[in-house]
Amino acid sequence: ATIHAPQLINQVVDRFEMSTKNQAIDFKRKIVDEPIAIKGDRDKLMQLMDNIVSNAVKYSPEGGSITVSLKQEKDRIVVSVKDEGVGIPKENIPNVFDRFYRVDKARSRNLGGTGLGLAIAKEIALAHGGNIWVSSEWGKGTTFSFSLPYAEEVVIPE
Ligand code: ATP
Ligand code: MG
Repeated sequence: ATIHAPQLINQVVDRFEMSTKNQAIDFKRKIVDEPIAIKGDRDKLMQLMDNIVSNAVKYSPEGGSITVSLKQEKDRIVVSVKDEGVGIPKENIPNVFDRFYRVDKARSRNLGGTGLGLAIAKEIALAHGGNIWVSSEWGKGTTFSFSLPYAEEVVIPE
């Protein structure tokens, strides 16, 4: 289907904003305010975004801020989710997209999960002709980004 990218991203952020009130996460948005069409499976793209944002929430302290940005490049969009959470040690970064991989120090914080979220996110991004990557600093925070090609099409928000 043809999907309005900023709308889809905003919908996911809206949902997390409502469901994390007790953790007082401060969501900031830098999302372009114009129609951008992307092609793909709406449910899968929602899941991709969901898996990234749920991690940002899970690995953030109470009151932490999460910045979601969507920018348009020459032939793709780039969505970034930046948190001020625990971060990922440099030596673990190459493995975070592996199935069932979890960073020990984060796991010891007793946070639930199976270690599949990022493997699924990567699978979905690649299946849509996009990419996914991370930059992180242990103790400072993490930014996950993914790109998706956009379609030269008119899209009307639903
Ligand atoms: P699941 O998503 O299956 O519930 P999970 O969140 O542990 O479990 P992934 O989403 O695949 O698994 O993430 C893999 C590991 O990468 C996590 O266990 C965590 O150690 C680390 N990680 C992922 N996102 C972040 C983040 N935003 N900040 C810090 N560490 C992260
Ligand atoms: Mg996860």
